[in-house]
Amino acid sequence: MNEIQNTTNDLDQEMIGWRQDFHQYPELGFEEHRTAARVAELLRSFGVDVYEGVGGTGIVGVLQRGTTSRAIGLRADMDALAITEENEFSHRSRNDGKMHACGHDGHTTMLLGAAKRLASSEKFDGRVVFIFQPAEEHGRGALAMIEAGLFDRFPVDAIYGIHNMPSIEAGHFAVRAGPIMACEDNFEIVVQGKGGHAALPHLTIDPIVVASEIVMALQTVVSRTLNPVDNGVVSVTDFSVAATRNAIPDKVILRGDTRAFTPQIQNRIEAAMERLVSGICSAHGADHRFVYSREFAATINSHKEAAIAADVATQAFGRDSVNADCQPIMASEDFGFMLQHKPGCYLLLGNGGVGPGGCGLHNPNYDFNDEILGRGAEFWVCLVESQLPAQPVSQAPAGG
Ligand SMILES: [Zn+2]
Ligand SMILES: [Zn+2]
Repeated sequence: MNEIQNTTNDLDQEMIGWRQDFHQYPELGFEEHRTAARVAELLRSFGVDVYEGVGGTGIVGVLQRGTTSRAIGLRADMDALAITEENEFSHRSRNDGKMHACGHDGHTTMLLGAAKRLASSEKFDGRVVFIFQPAEEHGRGALAMIEAGLFDRFPVDAIYGIHNMPSIEAGHFAVRAGPIMACEDNFEIVVQGKGGHAALPHLTIDPIVVASEIVMALQTVVSRTLNPVDNGVVSVTDFSVAATRNAIPDKVILRGDTRAFTPQIQNRIEAAMERLVSGICSAHGADHRFVYSREFAATINSHKEAAIAADVATQAFGRDSVNADCQPIMASEDFGFMLQHKPGCYLLLGNGGVGPGGCGLHNPNYDFNDEILGRGAEFWVCLVESQLPAQPVSQAPAGG
């Protein structure tokens, strides 16, 4: 049993209803029309000012108290994945082939719950900017909102986000200063050889042999190029050949994915890969094309805001519920782009290790744990009240 209080109040019940409704109607990145309309409708019903279409299907809600110019940004993501749900419960997906397998239905709901509570609270002074972003999974939604003027139209001193995490006990928070999630880069390598008869290999340049050597050599990028105390991942995830059994093909395409925490390591990985690909192809007389692209920025928490988030969670839920120096994760998160523009912090909230949410994120059996909705909303409210305190200036200045 986890430590979450089992006292459900009316808002908790309401949030469960919103969450399960979002879960039943998942929408992919930039297609979150129903979800965004529902978010806008609920925000308006609470008395929050609503701005729609900020970066495609993005929604911004603004709640102002008093006259101070202090402002805090709270962000949730709304998109689902192209996964066919295997759960059988009554709130399973009704949109075939789409599923909230990453718990963004819960993120959206927790932020709505916080908006409802804050809208009837006088315990803060300043502006709360509620950011409901589209298309996190493709890593395009944060940039779309930023390019649509998110931080110019709705300036904030700092920005915070939460992701649910199945490997952490339900309702516990994990956070760290510095990198918490990695960047993601993608690559494509075309090995251009010379095709021919399978029985006459001496007349060909066999791209399968060359590409195989590349796959093995790429295993040395992390182990022999990076400093052992740095982190990196290089994964070849696709080895494509237009094959015929008795012929040597003329080309192989390799695709894959790399992860790191700093631009320096990204650069080192890219350079080492290019050197190996070029050298191996040249040694075998094959041509090549190497394309390396940067997809997600690393999610790097600023020290001050990470300490604030850990303090707020500790004060609200107790020291045993907060890991203030968790291990970073090599997966990636679109929120990293927002943290390139504003100081802030990304936290993990435990979804628990049992039940439908006990499996990994992006699993067809995943489900956000409704028991943690109240805790997520409570964290948001406590964060706002601590950073935009209602008391006049004698209190410690907040935010940034
Ligand atoms: Zn995801
Ligand atoms: Zn996610």
